[in-house]
Amino acid sequence: MAVTRRRGCRRNRVAPLLAVALAVVLPPDAGAQSAVAEPVPPPQPRPAVVEAVRLPDARPLAPAHNEPIIRDNSSETCLARLRSLGVTFSAATPIAASRGCRVPAPVAITEIAPGVRLTPDSRLNCQTAEALATWMRDVVLPASRTELKSRPTALVHDSTYVCRRRNGRADGKLSEHATGNAIDIRTIAFAGRDALPIRIRNGRASTEKRFQARLRKGACKYFSTVLGPGTNAAHATHFHFDLARRKGGYRLCQ
Ligand SMILES: [Zn+2]
Repeated sequence: MAVTRRRGCRRNRVAPLLAVALAVVLPPDAGAQSAVAEPVPPPQPRPAVVEAVRLPDARPLAPAHNEPIIRDNSSETCLARLRSLGVTFSAATPIAASRGCRVPAPVAITEIAPGVRLTPDSRLNCQTAEALATWMRDVVLPASRTELKSRPTALVHDSTYVCRRRNGRADGKLSEHATGNAIDIRTIAFAGRDALPIRIRNGRASTEKRFQARLRKGACKYFSTVLGPGTNAAHATHFHFDLARRKGGYRLCQ
């Protein structure tokens, strides 16, 4: 408090002196001239204030998460991003099947990351392929290194594009698989160790249990739906990831 008061007093003493000095040095209309000739520069950023702003914690699971998962629907832009992620793929034949099943520009992926095959044959829309490749790069590869001291060699899936309704029913909503917007991952193969099947892992803590949990949690950042063992019987042996769009950007991470 004492410091603040002293500074205030000093400023009050200096200001009138400064005004007198300027009046002596400058011609009467100098202020007006400079106002016309030299536009006032925009205020500079104030680092002290920026530092004071507390960034919110990353909360990928927030129900009202509004950051679009699908950043750009332009297929060329997406394909370029896929290439930069190191994905090996080719353009597959556009799918326009009956019952609303449709993938206008599917990609067939052979490697989801350099040296990591995606098998068997796959057909995904580009945005889903990109989400999968980003998950592979940012979650699976680091987790394999730190938890398993290994390197994945293949991602084995049960299905990518399939023209069917949800849960294989005869009626109801189309499955996200029907638009190439989903993948079911069954197993991950590694160099120099047994493949790891996605399955219910109850019981005591193990490296594999921790690894599988890390993959699943990490997927919630890139996909809007993440289901797997424990969700229900239909998902006991695989992860289902998709990019379903929901009102308010709501994500389902179970
Ligand atoms: Zn599925």
